[in-house]
Amino acid sequence: MPTPLTHATVGFAIAAWAQQPPPMRRVCLVAAACAALPDIDYLGWPVAHRSITHSIAFALAGALVATAIFFRSAEWREHRARVAVILGLAFLSHGLLDGLSAYSYGVEYFAPFSPHRFRLWWTPLGDPEGRLTKQFLQEALVVLLPAVVIAWLAFRVRGRQRRANTAAA
Ligand SMILES: [Zn+2]
Repeated sequence: MPTPLTHATVGFAIAAWAQQPPPMRRVCLVAAACAALPDIDYLGWPVAHRSITHSIAFALAGALVATAIFFRSAEWREHRARVAVILGLAFLSHGLLDGLSAYSYGVEYFAPFSPHRFRLWWTPLGDPEGRLTKQFLQEALVVLLPAVVIAWLAFRVRGRQRRANTAAA
């Protein structure tokens, strides 16, 4: 059961690489929030956990709404389509990570059209015996740390790419 921090970091890393260089922090931060958002169903929402907020439909709608809210100004016009796709990927990464975990009864990817819960055929995340410390440790090593490194690399490598391009121009 990946924590919100892990989800957010994965969303941040996706946004850092999916943008045209150089990566912009604003896109990364909104993507991080989008990737963590599906777990609002923990907070006493009148819906079951890992149902509608974890669905593909919610990811699409959420990406459009978040793009409209946070990237409304004219300066974003030419980037907006790409930003919407990036935010959609961030949302989808949440359901994907949850689907990789042995914990819970699976994810309702097709809500509200189907209540069927899916779990991916490979569930390396989570401890089958439910030991929390083991889960957190495993998650930190397998998902969180790599995501931090990958995001950091994006800023290093792609920031440099941009400087090289500007120098060549
Ligand atoms: Zn979740």
